[in-house]
Amino acid sequence: MSEIQTAADVRVLHDKSRRTGTEVSVIVRAILGAMRITFKNLFRKPVTVHYPTKERVYPDRYRGLLALVYEEDTGEEACIGCRLCEFVCPPAVIKVEMLKGEKRNYAKAFTLELYACEFCELCVQVCPTDAIVMMKSFDMPTTDRREMLLDKDRLHAIGQEYPRSWATGNKLRDMQGPPKMARAEHPAPGTPASGTPAPGTPAPSTPAPTSGGAA
Ligand code: SF4
Ligand code: SF4
Repeated sequence: MSEIQTAADVRVLHDKSRRTGTEVSVIVRAILGAMRITFKNLFRKPVTVHYPTKERVYPDRYRGLLALVYEEDTGEEACIGCRLCEFVCPPAVIKVEMLKGEKRNYAKAFTLELYACEFCELCVQVCPTDAIVMMKSFDMPTTDRREMLLDKDRLHAIGQEYPRSWATGNKLRDMQGPPKMARAEHPAPGTPASGTPAPGTPAPSTPAPTSGGAA
């Protein structure tokens, strides 16, 4: 017996074939759209840079590798071994040993595990002598993790080899303070405002009132 018995059955069959045709056209359009994008990108200029064959220019304010530097005027090591960077470092990758000297102190040993560094720059921010700084480069690729355990000599060599970034501890700390104008307008608590005597300072003597008659 035929499955088509009524007009309703004919309508159902017609709808079914129409839906199948719609689905096919949707699939074909999706494939053509994807192929169009593929062909468009086939002839587009690549955006990747062939590093390290081709070097990229770092932005002006780029800060990458960490290094130790020498004092510009004396040529001595700028690090005084104070260990502030060691105390502040969140993942504790810095270890410093102080060497006491007659005029100043030095770092007897200084190690930095660069492979575990977070590049938070806190060590740079706290350094009182601008001895530890970030370089304007990150060109130290290696497949050997041990090469990224930096001792004092290696850190100084990096400081000589790469251009320094603008950021030193003193500059960064200056940026964090209130602007100089604001400091002058709102002196810190306990600081006498100009023209106001400091606490404990005797008030200037007031001239005694003169009597009506001449002496
Ligand atoms: S940048 Fe941050 S994580 Fe890296 S050594 Fe300095 S303080 Fe430690
Ligand atoms: S690098 Fe700076 S903060 Fe770290 S030990 Fe040396 S002087 Fe102190």
